[in-house]
Amino acid sequence: MKYRLVGIMAMAIMLFTACAASALNSDNPKNRIHQHQIARQPEAGCSCNGEELCTHLPLVIIETEGQEIPGEPITDENREEIGITTTAEGEKMLAAQISIMSTDDRNHHPSDEPDVESDILISIRGNSSRYFNKKGYLIRFTDDQRNYQAKEVMGMAPHYEWALHGPYLDKSLIRNYMWYNIAGEFMDYAPNVRFCEVIVNGDYQGLYVMTETITNGEDCRLNISEPIEGTANTGYVVRLDRGSRTPMKNIETFTNYALRNYQTFNIEYPRSGDLTPEMIQTIAQDFSDFEKSLYSYDYDTDDYGYYHDIDVQSFVDYFILNEFTSNYDAGWLSTYLYRDIGGKYRLVVWDFNSNCDNYRAYASDPRRFEMQHNVWFYMLMKDEYFTDQIIRRYGELRESYLSDEYLNRYIEDVLAYLGDAVDRNFEVWGNTFDPEMDRFLLQPAQRNLRSHEEAVRQLKQFIKVRGAWMDENIEVIRQYSHESKNKKFNH
Ligand SMILES: [Zn+2]
Repeated sequence: MKYRLVGIMAMAIMLFTACAASALNSDNPKNRIHQHQIARQPEAGCSCNGEELCTHLPLVIIETEGQEIPGEPITDENREEIGITTTAEGEKMLAAQISIMSTDDRNHHPSDEPDVESDILISIRGNSSRYFNKKGYLIRFTDDQRNYQAKEVMGMAPHYEWALHGPYLDKSLIRNYMWYNIAGEFMDYAPNVRFCEVIVNGDYQGLYVMTETITNGEDCRLNISEPIEGTANTGYVVRLDRGSRTPMKNIETFTNYALRNYQTFNIEYPRSGDLTPEMIQTIAQDFSDFEKSLYSYDYDTDDYGYYHDIDVQSFVDYFILNEFTSNYDAGWLSTYLYRDIGGKYRLVVWDFNSNCDNYRAYASDPRRFEMQHNVWFYMLMKDEYFTDQIIRRYGELRESYLSDEYLNRYIEDVLAYLGDAVDRNFEVWGNTFDPEMDRFLLQPAQRNLRSHEEAVRQLKQFIKVRGAWMDENIEVIRQYSHESKNKKFNH
């Protein structure tokens, strides 16, 4: 009897383990690659004599032959931005060369034979990050005639366009890498990412994250339809932010002119060269139609319901991940949506640098909800079904990808993988821990952390407090769909 009981218990434990494991695996049809789990580890070592930079991470070398990379902000005497720098020829992007060493069977050095060598166009990218000393770059691979050319980069599917993001304000260095990868486990798409170290014109620039830009590719990234020639039909990506520097890409939609949203929409895909005026008009109209029905009295009816236009799961997951991390740019800045021909809108996560307590105090309180105030979500939350979905899915994710155990382990594993690359990064950027730098980073001054260890502790501590508070209070969001709150909208 005793043995039978032990047997049954053992069986129960096995079943439980299998179920828990499948909860983590079954949501991962894309077999997301997490670099730190499969790539060369720091302890693999190297037999070189240490006379030059030696790293287990991929190494990126950019050469501009002495020319300045364009995209630096130009400001007037009041420090208001009045433009950005261009090349000597007045171009937004500079022709340059890139070399990438990224094979996993050895460490990498500047003198190694590159795995990828190419002409590129390069510019400084970002909004507020454009002002940081550590620059982020937009890179487009080209042939020697400056035609875009797709390249596989560090095992990521071939594409011509990449963002080279240099963690700076995020002193843990891992926020974007971590949250994009975790989002990629349960959302339809999140940009793929790989850590690397970067040298520009012979100067070591520290740790970067090679990142897929949110756009379409041939059988990669968003996998939506390309523009159909001779028609205005196309899959498309729009972004809510401060607008594009290419004015034709900026569109006005219902929430702009109804003053529900003071940011700017711009078309991110198709790219400018493929966009016709008819296409721009069609995209703006299509998006406006969705917003109009969402903000109408019929927003939840069978005929006009929002659920005909959006992938509810995508909006629910986007809400949860950004709310869980208090990533309050989401929903008004760096907010990307895409729609295929005949498909539904889906959201893509982007920019987690200021999340998890790494911003001004007012945006970092772990004891409140915020996403319900943002455009679209303001209306979606009025529907009990939508709110229900958030509560249900939140519980599910807290048992898997958003559990304290999973996230703490993830942070530890990523840091173990980065190894001494963290120290090399702060040999160049350690001045960000200096109180002298505070006025350029976070205000008030005490928001700035003094070491990498402190930054990691902040990230972990936030997750712990935030998760516990949300577990306790998630039901509170039902108030936003309560009858008393939105009688005038419901029937
Ligand atoms: Zn070496």
